[in-house]
Amino acid sequence: MASLSHHVHPHSSLNTPTIKFTKLFINGQFLDSISGRAFETVDPRTEEVITEVAEGTEEDVDLAVKAARVAFDSGPWPRMTGSERAKIMMRWADLIEENLEEIAALDTIDGGKLYTSCKAVDIPHVASLLRYYAGAADKIHGEVLKSSRNFHAYTLMEPIGVVGHIIPWNFPTHMFFAKVSPALAAGCTMVLKPAEQTPLSALFYAYLSQLAGIPDGVLNVIPGFGRTAGAAISSHMNIDAVSFTGSTETGRRVMQAAAMSNLKPVSLELGGKSPLIIFNDADVDRAVDLALFGILCNKGEVCVASSRVYVHEGIYEEFEKKVVEKSKAWVVGDPFDPKVQQGPQVDKKQFDKILSYIEHGKREGATLLTGGKRVGNKGYYIEPTIFTNVKEDMLIAQDEIFGPVMTLFKFKSIEEAIRSANNTRYGLAAGIVTKNLDIANTVSRNIRAGIVWINCYFAFDNDFPYGGYKMSGFGRDYGLHALHKYLQVKSVVTPIYNSPWL
Ligand code: NAD
Repeated sequence: MASLSHHVHPHSSLNTPTIKFTKLFINGQFLDSISGRAFETVDPRTEEVITEVAEGTEEDVDLAVKAARVAFDSGPWPRMTGSERAKIMMRWADLIEENLEEIAALDTIDGGKLYTSCKAVDIPHVASLLRYYAGAADKIHGEVLKSSRNFHAYTLMEPIGVVGHIIPWNFPTHMFFAKVSPALAAGCTMVLKPAEQTPLSALFYAYLSQLAGIPDGVLNVIPGFGRTAGAAISSHMNIDAVSFTGSTETGRRVMQAAAMSNLKPVSLELGGKSPLIIFNDADVDRAVDLALFGILCNKGEVCVASSRVYVHEGIYEEFEKKVVEKSKAWVVGDPFDPKVQQGPQVDKKQFDKILSYIEHGKREGATLLTGGKRVGNKGYYIEPTIFTNVKEDMLIAQDEIFGPVMTLFKFKSIEEAIRSANNTRYGLAAGIVTKNLDIANTVSRNIRAGIVWINCYFAFDNDFPYGGYKMSGFGRDYGLHALHKYLQVKSVVTPIYNSPWL
């Protein structure tokens, strides 16, 4: 046990919810899987099984796609006016808020996420995200085109059809609604596969969608594994587009499966190794808070985590001392406890992976300043960990660890900072801390990443498009840009008669 704050606080069973939904949601019904198989979902606080969930495989995905196809080809959803769809989406948002505590508890026991954050941030945010896209549903329109001859021509923005969504476990609630909300606004129908680690809130959302009035077959939720249910979605001949969030390796497989089946368009939100660059005019205390928040928020299981922190040599010593002190005081423990700042990693696989990266970092010759060990002997808790003397080509500086592990670097010039920050195959996010506008503008224009935060971190909002450069993927979630993943453009042309041209 590294310090007093790194005790695992006692587990509260008080907030543990009764699990109501554990079956596949297809065509408005909760069903067992065709194979009859189920899989265990585990509480990372205790390593104990929470419940068994029906395990969807290829044949279940096929059934869900058939339902979504009928709902798209002849059902009411794509044929409603945008404002009718919006009304139902708004009702769903209200129901989510009414069930806030129960859903927050599901994400906490399934994913080890902080209960207070789920309650105060994740779930209220997705209700607002649904309303944002509901507001867009009746404003999707094409344009009148200019013709060089006598034609009247215009475009229609049509829903792309049946969409497949494949999402990861680190933000089960955010990811669900980042995908589903714009697709619904566009008039699509869909099949969503939650991550096998965190299926519970997705099934609760499916139930609420039905109460809100989303017609049967429009939203189908198939829990299951990637190599079976996930692969069946990306290779399905009757799914018209796939929106994926997850690792770069899996993204490549999804794209390959899409290419080898019906050439469906894919959008990929993948991994990251995001830099936070702190200049010597920064308020060091605030910069330390930002850097810790950037890597320890959601126990580092964040694709935009600030896992590489570059600090100007003028303030490096002070920064290092303070960041280590504060990191030692970081409270790791039961995510239901409001004093706790960091819960357990999502599962054993992720826990082992992080610890093995830490060992690798030590072997590579980086200096471990603090942390590096398991906390307690039950649950997947890991100490906040900071390395310095890290070389840019070390594995811990290049690979996405997806855990509470910061790598610290010292830099001398703005050019060096930009070059080092871009020395990665990823390009999801970046942070800059400075009071100097010229530096902020220069660096933000020269960083190859989908979002740049100046003097803040993790600043997301409904209207901020979000996605990757380079091997962090392509396509954008959030903002009105996301709607276009679920729409296609049709040109319609009519001649104008009595024209000298015809
Ligand atoms: P993962 O790629 O293994 O899993 C993500 C999803 O893909 C899961 O639902 C999984 O079941 C499914 N899947 C796995 N194999 C599949 C296959 N062959 N075909 C189709 N689907 C398959 O990723 P993970 O390890 O569970 O999640 C962590 C990764 O996700 C990290 O690398 C992280 O950066 C990334 N991530 C990215 C974002 C983003 O917005 N860019 C957000 C969250 C997580």
